[in-house]
Amino acid sequence: MRYGIDLGGTKTEIIALSETGEEIFRTRKPTPRGDYGSILRNIADLVAEADQKTGETGTVGVGIPGVISPNSGLVKNANTTELIGHPLDKDLEALINRPVRTANDANCFALSEATDGAGAGAGSVFGIILGTGVGGGLVINGKLHAGRNAIAGEWGHSPLPWANQTEHPGPECYCGKKGCIETFLSGPGFSQSHNSVGATGPSAEEIVAQATNGDAAALKTISIFERRLAKALTGIINVIDPEIIVCGGGLSNISRIYENVPRLWMEYAFSDTLETKFVPAKYGDSSGVRGAAWLWN
Ligand SMILES: [Zn+2]
Repeated sequence: MRYGIDLGGTKTEIIALSETGEEIFRTRKPTPRGDYGSILRNIADLVAEADQKTGETGTVGVGIPGVISPNSGLVKNANTTELIGHPLDKDLEALINRPVRTANDANCFALSEATDGAGAGAGSVFGIILGTGVGGGLVINGKLHAGRNAIAGEWGHSPLPWANQTEHPGPECYCGKKGCIETFLSGPGFSQSHNSVGATGPSAEEIVAQATNGDAAALKTISIFERRLAKALTGIINVIDPEIIVCGGGLSNISRIYENVPRLWMEYAFSDTLETKFVPAKYGDSSGVRGAAWLWN
């Protein structure tokens, strides 16, 4: 039995998967805020509940915001800031008496989709999340490639390639740089780009709904988004040339991108043809927690 845990900023979820990936048990609790010890005990309680419900002692994988630094062994880059500077895996192992594997939540997403999701069977899968932020993960021959510095797949904080005059130097990013891909392709970035074409204030969801009703400004924003996504993904394709790119997060629900982006990326690719597939995630919001379970594979 494999347990996956998705440690989010507002909720912590656990799933128990059978050997074949069938969901046996799942539950969630709010993530306690303000105190690292409470966050750990909350995870331990969920593991105890899963043990009790399944009658087994499952392996434990945890998807975290941020990563455990290969150098220090401590959590870095986490927006759940209580975790930063702690050896989360070691502390949790002591609480639940079994080894713990952790990975960045976007890496868990990619691993889930590569294992038995939309990228199953592909030799190389680049999983991307277009949500509150822009994340990604790379799986090669079924194995997560975390990288020497544990930042593989962090395309959101590289600059948008082939930027035009309106895109350079680009909006300020929370990471301290300007023009990061995340500032254009995250939900907030999408909404901000809409405001700059004339309208005021709607969220990404509202803009997509307006486009469905034929609103010209909303349709223009989506067209601009598609071209930016094509440019950003071609930058990835030119370096790692994955067999398939699987897309999750709120903006992955814009169905027209799967047709339009592969048409647009031909304008930028260093190849006369691209056979790269671009598809939505199979497991949607469940990919993070399922991928955490597949860290034991
Ligand atoms: Zn950035």
